[in-house]
Amino acid sequence: MKKVKTRTKIFVVSLLCILGLAGGIFVWAEDGTADKKDDKSEKNAQAVIDDKKKKIDEVQAEIRRYTGDLARLDQEATTLELKIKISADEIEVTNLAIEKTGAEIDQTNAQIQLTKQQVEEKEKDLQYQREILSGLIRDLRHFDDNRSSINMLLRSSTFSDFLKFQQQTLSYQAEVKNMYDKVKALKDDLLAKKYELEDKQREQVALKGQLDQQHQELERQRRDNESLLSKTEKREDKYQELIGESAEKQRKLAAEIQTLEQELMNSRGGSTPSGPPAIGAGLLREPMKGALSSISQSYGLTSYAKSGVYGYNSDGSPRIHAGVDFALPCGTAVVAAADGQVFGVGSLTYGFGNWVVLFHPKLNLYTLYGHMSRTAVAPGQVMKQGDTVGFEGSTGFSTGCHLHFAVYTQMATVKTSYGESPWYAPEKTVSPMGLF
Ligand SMILES: [Zn+2]
Repeated sequence: MKKVKTRTKIFVVSLLCILGLAGGIFVWAEDGTADKKDDKSEKNAQAVIDDKKKKIDEVQAEIRRYTGDLARLDQEATTLELKIKISADEIEVTNLAIEKTGAEIDQTNAQIQLTKQQVEEKEKDLQYQREILSGLIRDLRHFDDNRSSINMLLRSSTFSDFLKFQQQTLSYQAEVKNMYDKVKALKDDLLAKKYELEDKQREQVALKGQLDQQHQELERQRRDNESLLSKTEKREDKYQELIGESAEKQRKLAAEIQTLEQELMNSRGGSTPSGPPAIGAGLLREPMKGALSSISQSYGLTSYAKSGVYGYNSDGSPRIHAGVDFALPCGTAVVAAADGQVFGVGSLTYGFGNWVVLFHPKLNLYTLYGHMSRTAVAPGQVMKQGDTVGFEGSTGFSTGCHLHFAVYTQMATVKTSYGESPWYAPEKTVSPMGLF
């Protein structure tokens, strides 16, 4: 019996053990499966987010190309507009010259007409004088013919009278001849003047012809440039359209990422401070010595933010610049703005570059330090206000040495293919300026 009892005991114990073990294994297996499943779905979610971020980068590169092309086209358009303006000015100048030359031609023409009239008048005078002269010559000849005749002598009262008559006629003839010569000289001068004026007019007409040609050429250039400009403007419109389409793609991707990250955050539990954040002046010190007098971009919807560089909210509005940028020389020590603990450290090839997030339990606030050349802390490290966090740099999304300093009321970090990143949630930031 004892044996049986012992056996039974062993059996029961064994059974319990097996059951227990099996149960344990079962529970363990279930837990393991659940963990793996969570891990797997989280990894999948993260992969989807990373993939979307990659797509955003691709679209960003696309936009940058379009923007570059657009900038070039815009320069071309500006040059063409300038050329058209110059052409228009030149056309105006040429028009004035054409008008002036036309008026000069008219003036010369009037002078020619006047001179022609004067020449004609002088010609009439000459004709008249020629007639007088020929009359006198006729008279003298007639007189000569009868001179020898006795009738002449008989007809003449005295011989002296005859001589007197002959003398007077000859003197009158000389006078008329003299006048004739003078008028002839005047007429010749007028004729010469007329030829001169005609030469002048020919030159003026030639000049006007040149100006007309110049005018036509300028008009042609202007037309060419105008058609080129309209083509350039159409191309610009096309690029603007493409940029608009890309920005829309980006906006959609950003909204999807935001939703996915929020889901991921919720599944992880995130990190929510226990109480309300402390807000007030004097809670923080400047994160670099002299930082407050070196602000290169303030917090909020700055004009730079309005261009969409920080992405878009799901309603399509551009995201704000969620921190303050301080620009001091590269390498300036970056220090803790308040007592706290290192919440996260990372090195991103985009976004914040080399970053550190500190948690300040007394304030229930997080401070973020981005774009540093290098970081000088490790996660969990306890920090005193003023302790060195890292050094100012230009890593990640940065165009020059500066510190991006931000204050968050809530914070989480996510692993991305670019490295670990603070969870980007501008709506969980406050302006740091009221806290110094
Ligand atoms: Zn910034």
